[in-house]
Amino acid sequence: MERTRARETIAAANGIGQDTAFGAVTPPIHLSTTYTFERFGTPRAYDYARLGNPTRDGLADTIAKLEGGARAIVVASGMAAIDLALSDLRPGDLLLAPHDCYGGTHRLLSMRAARGQYEVVFVDQRDQAALDAALARCPRIVLVETPSNPLMRVTDIRAVAGRARAAGALTVVDNTFLSPALQQPIPLGADIVVHSTTKYLNGHSDVIGGAVVTADEARGADLANWANTIGVTASAFDSYLTLRGIRTLFARMERQERNAARVAAFLDAHPAVAAVHYPGLPTHPGHAIARAQQAGFGAMLSLELAGGQEAVQRFVEAVRVFTLAESLGGVESLVSHPATMTHAAMDPDARRIAGIGESLLRLSVGLEAEDDLLADLDAALATAA
Ligand code: PLP
Repeated sequence: MERTRARETIAAANGIGQDTAFGAVTPPIHLSTTYTFERFGTPRAYDYARLGNPTRDGLADTIAKLEGGARAIVVASGMAAIDLALSDLRPGDLLLAPHDCYGGTHRLLSMRAARGQYEVVFVDQRDQAALDAALARCPRIVLVETPSNPLMRVTDIRAVAGRARAAGALTVVDNTFLSPALQQPIPLGADIVVHSTTKYLNGHSDVIGGAVVTADEARGADLANWANTIGVTASAFDSYLTLRGIRTLFARMERQERNAARVAAFLDAHPAVAAVHYPGLPTHPGHAIARAQQAGFGAMLSLELAGGQEAVQRFVEAVRVFTLAESLGGVESLVSHPATMTHAAMDPDARRIAGIGESLLRLSVGLEAEDDLLADLDAALATAA
């Protein structure tokens, strides 16, 4: 029997050297939208690219294996992935969601609920009493985002998935912030994993994409069918680039995490910084859970500046190695101001309840030299002090 391959090997080499037409080592990109029929009434493996495309299927197969899932569906964005994962919800069904999720997710769920497509309750999932009260209302799906965007709160996936199952609910985990290199929710009990592949999986800030991974083959087939029906499947070109990005996923995550750990320690000791949110710090409230369920602490962190909004403006205008921009997970370091950028779509009350204040900044730490990153932060903090 063939030895089971390590996930590093899957990322680097899944699908390599299998081209039967020319022996291409790298799987070729298939841009054709349509395929010849063998004869009347007999399509080949592919007939139309919204339904299936070899380049997209190669990416889906790789992501499914990396997550330990039965099947992956590759779609046009992270938002499309979340919407697809929740597409079984009907009017009257309840969705239990985290109160501090990505702002676009909060907007999607709130707007679907406002249209009567399902009901949503936002809960601080670290609060056991609040979680129990919400589970007692029999939700059909529990959505988890861990670590959360932007406050890096850590949710115990095994515990929440177990309680959700006991309450008759499915668990969907947004694994965007860590990628399967550092966290695998399905072996921890999740039924579905969603990704914005825009972030670490692609890793180069040049594709908007998403993926849904199911633990169960039949659920995956149903969702693939629905993705084709509503037309949210990803393009071949984006799929090609994303698979290319995945080749270096493990190496990027390892190095970016090392940089982030140094940045977090540096900021934690700086007098102009009031708080640092990074699960790798032993003082982080989710440190022990993160250590147990993650293979690493990742390269995302957030900080609160002691000088408030004015300090924030001076800081983001002073950075030179970090760039002020939305998004995360690329090889370049970015800084964003959630209250006015990534989480501006959330209503101000929801932002306040989640703890996303004016002095909060989010960092996505890239692959630059550690010393350049620290020198840049040091200089910018001097202007913000
Ligand atoms: N999930 C998380 C945790 C995110 O941070 C984002 C985007 O920032 C999304 C989902 C949405 O992904 P996309 O922008 O690819 O639609």
